[in-house]
Amino acid sequence: MRYDAVVVGGGPAGASTARFLAQKGAKVLLIEKKKLPRFKLCAGCLSARIAPLLPAGWESEVLNIVKGGFLGFRGERFHHRISTEPVAFVIDRASFDHFLVKSAVESGADLWEGTEFLDFEGDRTLRVRTSRETVETDFLIGADGFYTKVGKQLGYQKRKFFRSVEFWTEGDLKDEVVIDVGIVKRGYGWIFPKGERMSVGLATTGRENTLEVLKSYVREHRLLNSVEVIGVKGWMIPFTTDKGDLHLGRGRVLLVGDSANMVDPLLGEGIYYGILGGKLLAEALAERPESVLGEYRGRIEREIFPELYYAGRIARLAYAFQKTAFRMGGGFTMDRFLRLLKGETGYRELYIRGLPDFLKSLLPFENFSHIIIDKILRRR
Ligand SMILES: Cc1cc2nc3c(=O)[nH]c(=O)nc-3n(C[C@H](O)[C@H](O)[C@H](O)COP(=O)(O)OP(=O)(O)OC[C@H]3O[C@@H](n4cnc5c(N)ncnc54)[C@H](O)[C@@H]3O)c2cc1C
Repeated sequence: MRYDAVVVGGGPAGASTARFLAQKGAKVLLIEKKKLPRFKLCAGCLSARIAPLLPAGWESEVLNIVKGGFLGFRGERFHHRISTEPVAFVIDRASFDHFLVKSAVESGADLWEGTEFLDFEGDRTLRVRTSRETVETDFLIGADGFYTKVGKQLGYQKRKFFRSVEFWTEGDLKDEVVIDVGIVKRGYGWIFPKGERMSVGLATTGRENTLEVLKSYVREHRLLNSVEVIGVKGWMIPFTTDKGDLHLGRGRVLLVGDSANMVDPLLGEGIYYGILGGKLLAEALAERPESVLGEYRGRIEREIFPELYYAGRIARLAYAFQKTAFRMGGGFTMDRFLRLLKGETGYRELYIRGLPDFLKSLLPFENFSHIIIDKILRRR
């Protein structure tokens, strides 16, 4: 059997790449190792700017429409902000990912679920070995998540990632989200609505014992009472701050989503970037099949990398000076952030316009802070 493209992984990045490619008339095979729908650990929060990238009917996947919420410091003090319009949508990943896969199939992609990608060989025509059979393809696309086998075969290793833990519990957040800083050294804690339940978790790039920190976060949080920490699961979230972190592939083998580290380093938002990456990859492949990698890299560096880069600069400051970040969150920074989630502005603008205020609000509180800030801004 021969395909134009074989896509490995039926998460948001893989399912969307398969859909965009099939819509452009490519003969596509989507391989997913699990039977669908499958569980995926994730808070499932989509920034509202994702809407134009989703297939028709996505609204029926939405459990909660978020218009704002709380920025907290250690679950003790809070700023509260609400927008007049939706800023985010919460979905259930098992159902949402299955919906995206079904949309890919409706667009013409073949699907092999319960089928594992094993390895590939070849240069122009690629022979892809799977647990079902071997297929031939012109292009292989790895969208197989954090532990990407496709990426490993290309020699990539993950260097930058959050370790995160999450559990679901009873509770009504009234369609608002809570994000707390001051919990871990570099990262944050969250409480998101999940239908009529809540997702509680934290993500950190530090070395803390995440389970212990999560327990004390929950115990001491003013908005949580008598919540039992049970059923906690952990997973990794890779991210990009520098161009070298983007693992986009080699020759006719391309990566997208978590396998390519296409996640922002401030919040760990990966669904939006994975789907946008799939769109850019499909466009590059359709328009420049002979130099697809260069074309893909160019599009990613123009449309996704600047966001990840400036999110990284914000993360560096915000997590180094978490009290100051919290203080600033009470003002128009939060309004700008809500606009970003809606797609009305980006991290570059948030960084450039927020930096002077951040420095001003930092200076009275930290000795020699200008030296530290200078160091942080130079270090990349
Ligand atoms: C606790 C937690 C909370 C998060 N919360 C959010 C959030 O609120 N919003 C947000 O945007 N992001 C969030 N993220 C990040 C988000 O989950 C990822 O960025 C996103 O899932 C990436 O999508 P993907 O398609 O690249 O990979 P995945 O969703 O990981 O999908 C990869 C797929 O590949 C399949 N696969 C793997 N290996 C093989 C193989 N060898 N053969 C065939 N198939 C294979 C897997 O079964 C899987 O279905 C969170 C992550 C975690 C861990």
